[in-house]
Amino acid sequence: MNASTPSGKVHAGGCHCGEVRYEVHGKLHDTKMCHCKLCRKLHGHVSSYARVEKDALHLTREEGLRWYRLSDQSDRGFCKECGSSLFWRPVRSQEVAITPGTLDGASGISTSAQMFCKDKGDYYPIDPAIPAYNGDDEA
Ligand SMILES: [Zn+2]
Repeated sequence: MNASTPSGKVHAGGCHCGEVRYEVHGKLHDTKMCHCKLCRKLHGHVSSYARVEKDALHLTREEGLRWYRLSDQSDRGFCKECGSSLFWRPVRSQEVAITPGTLDGASGISTSAQMFCKDKGDYYPIDPAIPAYNGDDEA
């Protein structure tokens, strides 16, 4: 099981228009999909986030980056020019998460869980190959 990528590899990524670019210098954890209504509103569909340590995320271009306060718990990072969803960060944590779809190359990770399946949209099925939870998988 490939739980994460080797810590020596650098993953580069960014938004569609190039106003936000980043590199992950360190471990990229497996990604988790989220079917909740909030994520579907923000992304237009299911979200997927892969955790990294805050120190491992290096912004190499951030002219377009804006943070949207979702709640008193977390912020969402997006590009103000092209609208790409890039980051999610809990307010009180040493971690941040990237959307793996914004990586330039292969991620080398897999999807370890899908969360809030009970809140999923009625227009698509749940993939039975991915462990499914009705809440957060850590709850
Ligand atoms: Zn952009």
